[in-house]
Amino acid sequence: MTPGFVFSEKPIQIERGSGTALYDVDGTEFLDAGASYGCVPAGHCHPEVVTAVRSQSENLFYVQGSYPTAPRNRLYERLADLAPGDMGHIWLCNSGTEANEAALKFARHATGRSKVIATKRGFHGRTLGALSATWKQAYRNGFEPLVEGFEFVEYGDAAALAQMVDGETAAVIVEPVQGEGGVVPAPEGYLEAVRELTEEVGAAMIVDEIQTGLGRTGSFWAVDRAGVVPDVLTTAKGLANGLPMGATLCREWIAEDPGDHGSTFSGGPVVSAAADATLRVIETNGLPAQAEEVGGYLRSRLRATIGEDVRELRGQGLLVGIEVKRGSNHLLRELAMEHNVLALPAGRTVLRLLPSLVFDKEDVDALVSALAAVLSEEGGS
Ligand SMILES: *Cc1c(COP(=O)(O)O)cnc(C)c1O
Repeated sequence: MTPGFVFSEKPIQIERGSGTALYDVDGTEFLDAGASYGCVPAGHCHPEVVTAVRSQSENLFYVQGSYPTAPRNRLYERLADLAPGDMGHIWLCNSGTEANEAALKFARHATGRSKVIATKRGFHGRTLGALSATWKQAYRNGFEPLVEGFEFVEYGDAAALAQMVDGETAAVIVEPVQGEGGVVPAPEGYLEAVRELTEEVGAAMIVDEIQTGLGRTGSFWAVDRAGVVPDVLTTAKGLANGLPMGATLCREWIAEDPGDHGSTFSGGPVVSAAADATLRVIETNGLPAQAEEVGGYLRSRLRATIGEDVRELRGQGLLVGIEVKRGSNHLLRELAMEHNVLALPAGRTVLRLLPSLVFDKEDVDALVSALAAVLSEEGGS
């Protein structure tokens, strides 16, 4: 047993990354179709992000959050510009689960209510509050009792939600596409319905865009496509292109009465500089539009090439799930070990593709032929 004990380690030691490529200690190149859970949207070691981190760390590594700094101010402004509607009130933190903790706390405080409705098969993180909004029992086993006041409703079922939302409801928390839950996009009209139902009773609509945000689904935020402005929106994962950062974007009525919340490392100068550079790269290179185009190409190539060999293809932009007929684990292993392609699971039977947004059509072609090869080997065996 190695001294680290939480992760099960893979038999590949990564040493270097560039764009959509990773290299192991022997110099073998891998095509990265998972971007380590979507955490490097601008591609590995994007030069503008590297420069921003280098120059900020030579000036000021850290100062407590009560002192304003230029990189954090720039990030606040950029995020406020990118925020849907009037969601320009921003809380910065260090991870996705913390962004959701803040969202849940702010919603309870601003409404003075405690009931939270989350969705079946939803995933919101692993600290006790966010875990209370996370469906899968395997994540919860042995850690209960969790936080009181959480209830679950079928994802995508607006009528079922209407039955549960009431004057006691502080918040409804929902992903625009369930990621961990198997890459399941919300049905047409669902996010609009959640918006209406929460508005009617004065509850906060919290949208978890930790996996769907930053251009991945083809628009900057997945809610932009539905034309929905929630009350709270959380982002993290790729926000600082691989440095730890999360953010909770709020409307005025949430931000003006958030209660007492804080975190020592909130919006530190180096991560803020990295996040500002990452968002700038995503914007100036039109990466959301590229994700839409390349993602569309990816899904049509997949349909044409492996459509018959799998149960279902799902997704939006560069967030793609392939529901396979048998388990996905051995396919992922063969992709990595025999075809030098790295991808991800989403549950037991779904293979998840979550590449950086600089993934191009050549990368798609290489990925699709590797997938076709492992699936045909499986069919033949
Ligand atoms: C990854 C993820 C989280 C948790 O983020 P961490 O940074 O691992 O805490 C929460 N919600 C969604 C939708 C995620 O994909």
